[in-house]
Amino acid sequence: MTNKSKTPQRQLVFVIDLNKCIGCQTCTVACKKLWTAGPGQDFMYWRNVETTPGKGYPMHWKSKGGGYKNGALQMGDFPAPDQYGVPFDFDFFGRLFEGKKDRVKPSPAPRSAPNWDEDQGADDYPNNFFFYLPRMCNHCAKPACLEACPEDAIYKREQDGLVVINQDYCLSKKSCIKACPYAKSYYNSVTETANKCIGCFPRVEKGVEPVCVAQCVGRAMHVGFIDDEASSVHKLVKLWKVAMPLYPEFGTEPNVFYVPPILGSNREDNDGEISGKPRIPFEHLIGLFGSGVVITHDLLNAERNRKIAGQESEIMDVLIGRRSADMMSLSIT
Ligand code: SF4
Ligand code: SF4
Ligand code: SF4
Repeated sequence: MTNKSKTPQRQLVFVIDLNKCIGCQTCTVACKKLWTAGPGQDFMYWRNVETTPGKGYPMHWKSKGGGYKNGALQMGDFPAPDQYGVPFDFDFFGRLFEGKKDRVKPSPAPRSAPNWDEDQGADDYPNNFFFYLPRMCNHCAKPACLEACPEDAIYKREQDGLVVINQDYCLSKKSCIKACPYAKSYYNSVTETANKCIGCFPRVEKGVEPVCVAQCVGRAMHVGFIDDEASSVHKLVKLWKVAMPLYPEFGTEPNVFYVPPILGSNREDNDGEISGKPRIPFEHLIGLFGSGVVITHDLLNAERNRKIAGQESEIMDVLIGRRSADMMSLSIT
């Protein structure tokens, strides 16, 4: 049996509540410090948090291609280095020792970077809007990266469904990078291998949550095995269906799910009156997560109103997550 035909016994799933993410980038830095501080990884952010609407990281990744179309694997583009953002230094030497009069400038002048358009969003005041979209490898059920790898270097781990790259087998063909429609596999030009999020499997194997989850300041993340009916991920994804994958039309069946940001304010109409329309247009949310966001919007608002009225709401209690332990279910069976 090749790696391509194996299906995992269990699947680890992540849920990110976009109503709680404050865009602080703590998860980004935690992942960076732990996993991508090595040679050839300067530009790599296995975990990144981008502003949407926006260009994203790498820039314009949404249109790079990849994934599946009518069930057939698609090969997309290989992002150029400046789409990720080339690392730069500030010219302290010139300013301090050569007496250059300008303020300290980055050198070389950057043309893009992660968070290049952070907080810009869309529309004009008072109806301008944006929100934060944390991104990572989706540890897909149908991983295009795995399907594309000619060397069988990529596999789904049997015990947790995490998708990882065997660095000893990778022959730097870059196929996974072109095939992943989420641009979450990266080329390391020093090791000449592809690198990607490993789901923090050394931690998961010990029953410890991934570091991006552990460090989340907004307590926006849930993690657990989807077959555990008591877990918050099972309830949010399977039972209440209030968490949904990003761009499901890419066809890779992601295992990272998002609770869409729908508990915000309403738009103003032309007379400056508060309208009944949500500040973040449904069209934008539908574009990201599909038409299910409309039902989710109504359900979550109804549940929130129950809570405000002093009634019980299990969905709101799970989303509030008063105890971190209740947001994680990592028991290994
Ligand atoms: Fe592979 Fe991309 Fe899916 Fe991750 S998100 S498993 S890299 S196809
Ligand atoms: Fe990084 Fe681990 Fe989170 Fe993956 S699961 S994005 S490796 S911190
Ligand atoms: Fe959002 Fe949590 Fe990451 Fe902060 S640490 S950016 S709140 S997901």
